[in-house]
Amino acid sequence: MNILVINSGSSSLKYQLIDTSTENVILKGLVDKIGSVGTNPTNTYTLNGNKVSENVLAKDHKDAIGIVSKIIIDNNLKVDGIGHRVVHGGYKFFESVVIDSEVIRYIEEFCKLAPLHNPPNLIGILSCKEIMPDVPQVAVFDTAFHQTIPQYNYMYAIPFRYYEKYGIRKYGFHGTSHRYVTYKTAEFLNIDVNKANFITCHLGNGVSLTAVKEGKSYDTSMGFTPLEGLIMGTRCGDIDPSIPLYIMEKENLSISEMDKILNRESGILGVSGISNDMRLIEEEYLKGSEGNERARLAFEMYCNRIRKYIGAYYFELGKVDAIVFTAGVGENSPITRKKVLENIELVEIDDEKNNETVRGKAGIISKPSSRIKVVVMPTNEELAIALDTERLLSK
Ligand code: ADP
Repeated sequence: MNILVINSGSSSLKYQLIDTSTENVILKGLVDKIGSVGTNPTNTYTLNGNKVSENVLAKDHKDAIGIVSKIIIDNNLKVDGIGHRVVHGGYKFFESVVIDSEVIRYIEEFCKLAPLHNPPNLIGILSCKEIMPDVPQVAVFDTAFHQTIPQYNYMYAIPFRYYEKYGIRKYGFHGTSHRYVTYKTAEFLNIDVNKANFITCHLGNGVSLTAVKEGKSYDTSMGFTPLEGLIMGTRCGDIDPSIPLYIMEKENLSISEMDKILNRESGILGVSGISNDMRLIEEEYLKGSEGNERARLAFEMYCNRIRKYIGAYYFELGKVDAIVFTAGVGENSPITRKKVLENIELVEIDDEKNNETVRGKAGIISKPSSRIKVVVMPTNEELAIALDTERLLSK
């Protein structure tokens, strides 16, 4: 089947047309700066290996979908189904679903839980419905994999009425990636996924860890929103909840100003003061005492927070078959992997394997004698969405 994967964000639309029988990417592109004022929206795409970049008129997401649909028609490409990345599936969706009017109603309801993400996801769905009405659509939720988390792990210790009134609980994110690498790692290690206990570490711009028990999510570091947990590029992760209240009072800040500080000005960027790009931070760290001191501090904080969560998840799970690294930093950064796991009696890293395992390559980077295996597994959320879509549409 040829599946069009749509990731409709607040000001951009990422798309891929994937042939699920070969897992080949036929078309891959990005309509950027949708609806922007001052700069022209652009569409950059690769079709059969040829790269095209053009200025386009995309005043909204519907225009952007129209642009994608035109490329498909002009090049005589076939689309059998459309798979949408939807960030929030609330309490309702445990797995991907074929989109109908009831599903649309729920995605609309969960806009209040993900006000930045669900609305553009929904517009993507409605625009596809209008422009390609005969093509069936599937929604794949970032939260779905985490719906198996037990209540004692998803509740917050605040008055129970806020859970009942507003649905305040841990939902978790990056679920498509955690699920994909869980299944891929079980296959790679030749173990039954239903018996596999893993700690999956998605280290990208956003960072989250999941404790996987018998192939299912048992706990995860992101929470009610993607702000909780690890230190990220620009997000703070876990902090004392009174800190924002204190700063807001001291500096007379509004809710949205504080929100911006925690989501966009914190994390690696906030501590280092130089960048949210891990490559630059690592460079400074590697210079030792010559390097930027705050970059070094940011790197040490980042790695130690991951290490702390791995420790907690190890005890939560009781037994761990493998620690799995994925996404931009997880797949590409031997230094981070080594720093996170050095001097732990259960884990022995094979330096040579660690150093040679980079993006796009799966590998075991622990020594055979290591009590817990350490695996690098490339994630591929678009392929996971395409495969789910195919599975549901072939039923
Ligand atoms: P996203 O979370 O947006 O999908 P990625 O998974 O691609 O993004 O991760 C982006 C992060 O990966 C950036 O912080 C980038 O600096 C980091 N990264 C990419 N390549 C390397 C590398 N070779 N070494 C260290 N970090 C890297």
